Amino acid sequence: MLIDAHAHLDFYTPEDLPRVLAMIRDRGILTVANSVSLDSWRKTQQVAALCDLVIPSFGLHPVWGATDLPSTSDLERALEDAPMIGEIGLDYTRATTSERRAQRRTFEQVLHLARDNEKVVTIHSKGAERDVLESLDRVQPTRAILHWYQGPTDVLQELIDRGAFFSIGFAVLDTPAVRDLVRRLPLPQLLTETDNPAARSLRGREAMPDLVCEVVEETARLKGIEAGTLEEVVEENFRRLVGERLAARVDRASGNPLQGGSGGLQAR
Ligand SMILES: [Zn+2]
Repeated sequence: MLIDAHAHLDFYTPEDLPRVLAMIRDRGILTVANSVSLDSWRKTQQVAALCDLVIPSFGLHPVWGATDLPSTSDLERALEDAPMIGEIGLDYTRATTSERRAQRRTFEQVLHLARDNEKVVTIHSKGAERDVLESLDRVQPTRAILHWYQGPTDVLQELIDRGAFFSIGFAVLDTPAVRDLVRRLPLPQLLTETDNPAARSLRGREAMPDLVCEVVEETARLKGIEAGTLEEVVEENFRRLVGERLAARVDRASGNPLQGGSGGLQAR
């Protein structure tokens, strides 16, 4: 089963979404739908209700989500309801000192709640990799996925040593730093993603779910293994990552990807 560990399905227009979900069902792509704010989380839950292959994830993105903070009760309820947590993290690329401080406060607050609820977290770390590592060391969440990591290699090694997972996206096709990361990364800590529909604005691509196939093929090539083998390894990694709590959900997705949707397409 193909795994897209990081997408933003609520970012698709209502016109595009049915085509996107049909392809997810058709190709049997288990997709983690990240959200970036409370409003985005509500939309993401609605999308996930349409398709068993979509796992909704609650997050407050450092750029979009952290400025409009939910109340503590809304935050706690979302943390309880969500099977996974993300996208959360830090982004220092354009942040002032006070914005960085605010991002960090929110990030650590959500990390604490995620740890207390034993949820897997998906982390954005752009330009802030060392502070992300420090926060992870302080809070010690259950398990973490680093999304689109592009930081220093010494911090990368520390994160690998702590057992973090890394989701590899379309940048593997053209970004030397990401290709280098793939070569360094132990196979048991590797996941695949699309960050859909980001490739539309960043690369002018159509940004459909089958983008993950290109990611799998190129990542496999860099690792010197068959694409089919990498697909199996990533599924196994994802199962290990989410553990018992989501095992039934992954089984249901792999066994019966048509359930929950209007479907009519053949599963791969
Ligand atoms: Zn994202």
